[in-house]
This record gives sequence, C-alpha cells and structure tokens, in this order.
Amino acid sequence: MGTGPEGIKRAGLVFVVSAPSGAGKTTLVRRVMEQLPGIHFSVSYTTRSPRAGEREGEDYHFVSPSVFQEMVERDEFLEWAEVLGNRYGTALTSVKDFTSKGRDLILDIDTQGAKKVKEKLEQTVLVYILPPSPEALRERLVNRGLDSPEMIQLRLAGAYRDIEEAHWYQYLIVNERIEEAIEQLKAIIIAERCRKVKISILEEKKREWGKHHGKNNR
Ligand code: 5GP
Repeated sequence: MGTGPEGIKRAGLVFVVSAPSGAGKTTLVRRVMEQLPGIHFSVSYTTRSPRAGEREGEDYHFVSPSVFQEMVERDEFLEWAEVLGNRYGTALTSVKDFTSKGRDLILDIDTQGAKKVKEKLEQTVLVYILPPSPEALRERLVNRGLDSPEMIQLRLAGAYRDIEEAHWYQYLIVNERIEEAIEQLKAIIIAERCRKVKISILEEKKREWGKHHGKNNR
C-alpha cells in the first residue's frame, strides 16, 4: 500500500463528482486540484470527438467505437456508460494504479457510473454538483456555445432527471458562487482524508503513549 499526502500508509480515496453538464464542474474540479496536493484526475475513455481545446490523455482518451467495444469485451473498465449517444468509461488499471499508491482520485463521471463505482470500491465518496437554478443552467449552456438548441433541451431534461438521482450521493454542492463551491469541495476531501487515517493515527498514538506510560511506571 502507498502513502497518502499526509504521510500515512493508506489506499487512495476515490471522489466521484457528478453534475448536469453546464453546472461548472470542470472549472471547479480543476481549481480544487490546483489548490490541494495529492489529488489526481482520472482520465476517462470516450467515443465522442474532442471539442476545441480538449487534449488527448488530459481531458479524455479519445477512441473509436470499435476500440471501446474491445475494451468492454476484455473487461478493462471499472465502469462504463452511454451518455447522449456516446460511450464513456473508466479504466480499471488506472484507478488501481493510483489508489494502490495512496493517491486520491477524482472521477468526473455520470450518475450511472457513480452507482457502479460505489458498489465496487468501498473507498468511494460521492459528490453531486448542482447549478443554482434551471435558468442559470440554460444560460451557461447557451453562453458556452457548444450545443444546438435541441441538445440544450436534452441536457436540461437530463439535469431534471439527475436531481432525483442526487439523493443517494453523500454530498451536494450548489455551485452558486464558484469560490464557495471550491472551498466546499476542498473541505469534503480534507474531511474524508481525516476519516480515512483516523485508525492508523490512533494505533500509532497508542503505541507512542504506551511506551511513555511504561517508562513513567517503571
Ligand atoms: P462530456 O461529453 O460533456 O465531457 O461528458 C458527458 C457526461 O459523461 C458527463 O456527465 C461526464 O461526467 C460523463 N462521463 C465522463 N467520463 C465518464 C466515464 O468514464 N464514465 C461515465 N459513466 N460517465 C462519464
């Protein structure tokens, strides 16, 4: 087992962050990773084409439908799902590589994937990001200029369905002001790390205190 950023031996935590598209999740995750050491982004595989500015191996691994299908058949995904006509998946090996070295990971995946990861990995922490209102979401989708009006309608309908799904997430962040959302996501990660190392610290402290106690009673 590897060592976490606090210098204690432990498996890495897996933070699953889901949100309706346009909720500001990408910016939020990027800003938190800049500010917190020891947290890494899990790069998914997808069959969709790269958008302007997206880079292979950084935003996604962009693969053809046939390569994706081969990976499915070889059981190489921890989870995969179809989202609005494209397939997306998280490779099992990269998650295992990181977590076995004590490194914490952020998975930016949808609610279908979140459910599967939670079932398979006990160290999963689920965080759902909501935009402040449907109007705000529509405005962000229109302003970023990536989608047709039909696609925007589809994304808004998806967002409505997702709110129902968000019930079984452990945490919810309403992204009204980005600076506040950043603080909240950082606080969640820090608190979960504290929880994870509690037993190890207690065992070490007991040994330390035990030695001290032994000496004083001699
Ligand atoms: P986009 O095409 O806008 O980058 O992503 C569309 C949706 O796919 C987002 O909700 C995103 O969280 C989700 N997604 C990205 N990668 C994965 C993945 O590996 N697995 C699953 N289940 N969903 C993913």
